[in-house]
Amino acid sequence: MEDNCHRESDVSYHEDNFKESLDSYESGMDLTQMSSDSDLDFIFAGTSLAADLAAWTSEFQVKHNAVDGLKLLKKHGHPQLPSTARTLMRTAREVKTVEKSGMEYLHYPLKEKLVETLDRYPVQLVTDLDTLELSFNVDGLPLFKSSGKSMWPILCAVMLSPVTIFPTALTCGTKKPTDLAFLEDTVTDLTEVLTNGLDYRKKNIKVIVRCFVCDAPAKALIKNTKCYSGYYGCERCTQRGIWLKRVTYQETAELNLRTDASFRAQTQPEHHHGPTPLSDLPIDMVQSFPIDYMHQVCLGVTKKLLFIWCRGEKGMRISAGQVQEISSRLLQLKSSIPSIFARTPRGLDELERWKATEFRQFLLYTGRLVLKGVLREDLYNHFLTFSVAIGLLTHHLSLIGGANPGDCARRLMRSIATSHVWKHFSLHGKKGKKTFHNTTVYFVIKRAIMVCHAGSGEKFVEDLITNVLKHAPAHSKLQVQLVPELEVPVVHNETGILDSSDTE
Ligand SMILES: [Zn+2]
Repeated sequence: MEDNCHRESDVSYHEDNFKESLDSYESGMDLTQMSSDSDLDFIFAGTSLAADLAAWTSEFQVKHNAVDGLKLLKKHGHPQLPSTARTLMRTAREVKTVEKSGMEYLHYPLKEKLVETLDRYPVQLVTDLDTLELSFNVDGLPLFKSSGKSMWPILCAVMLSPVTIFPTALTCGTKKPTDLAFLEDTVTDLTEVLTNGLDYRKKNIKVIVRCFVCDAPAKALIKNTKCYSGYYGCERCTQRGIWLKRVTYQETAELNLRTDASFRAQTQPEHHHGPTPLSDLPIDMVQSFPIDYMHQVCLGVTKKLLFIWCRGEKGMRISAGQVQEISSRLLQLKSSIPSIFARTPRGLDELERWKATEFRQFLLYTGRLVLKGVLREDLYNHFLTFSVAIGLLTHHLSLIGGANPGDCARRLMRSIATSHVWKHFSLHGKKGKKTFHNTTVYFVIKRAIMVCHAGSGEKFVEDLITNVLKHAPAHSKLQVQLVPELEVPVVHNETGILDSSDTE
């Protein structure tokens, strides 16, 4: 790849066997541990200022032309510092790439990267590990504003706490990949670890894939199917779309859902462009590709509704006065938005510049308040249905997963009841507490954790739940300091747990 590619995109490669990866994906990397490089005019080892500067540049993704400016330190008492960012960051001058899918291509062996990644976690966490969960992402990243050059990295996320991300392949070219050959090495590597597990420190760790996260166009590309805008583009069901100035999917009842088997057999040929290397993997070809909530709900339906109300055709459009009223209500809410939100509301006059998170806030929180009494009642009720439905769904989804089984147990239990309730329970009813292990809620929680974190044994999950119950008294004291004490009804049976939980 050409030199300016490294400079402008802040990409740095190790020069032997391409072991290094994107700075931006591995900002936590310890640069001082890199081996020395005789080609360079600057000896890295022992120059701690240079090493610190390199780590700082990497962590904050400082532009290399700005780092070049630091050569003024050379004039003022630090003659050992290098003159350019490239020397400081030890950017390789040449990277041997091969051509694949019409692009320059670089492959990172998955097994080696996994071992390298696990080495960075605390020994205890890795020693206890039986199952390693991975997620993947493929997407196009434009590199420069002034040219069409883009990268299509395949990224792997190791789902431990904290999550670590590294590339398994990097492709770079002026257009998108011409075929799916760039997926093949990753699929081969992944099939190997999924089948045989990962040998790590005299132990064999089971490897599973949680999902492939991609936006809709990238998903259609790697699954080699029609895009969402096609007549047979729905990735979840087999209905044929209807043309209403654009393809829409109208049916909501009696749908035939796609399954892993129907996808692999290509029972609806119109949905597929052809085979994909991904179908060599032992994954569910439908369920392993989650629906892209940001593009489809926030930047999709919610944005569309607001644009129809504010800028749509006559008959659907609301009046300028109503737009003004909604805007002023939104602005009034500004001071009441807690700091956990990335942005505070803006008026509808800035609708074109709203970000996905603003549409999300409108849909889940502010919209219900500011539209009431302004929007026509049937439209308001329609919006309310959508808002509540997505609210329930996101709440439900937020319970799933967790970085590890312990995290999952905590999330699940805290969403069902507060620590004020849990402190009255112990697994087997010891110390005068109520028995938890014979309740339906206990069974449901246990099953949920075991489904989310495949490979977690029953005894292990039991211990996790016991642990949450054990810490509930201390945790509830902590909550008292944060929020005023709430009256906790005495719980007589397992359904009572659900009744007394709604304290948020
Ligand atoms: Zn569908």
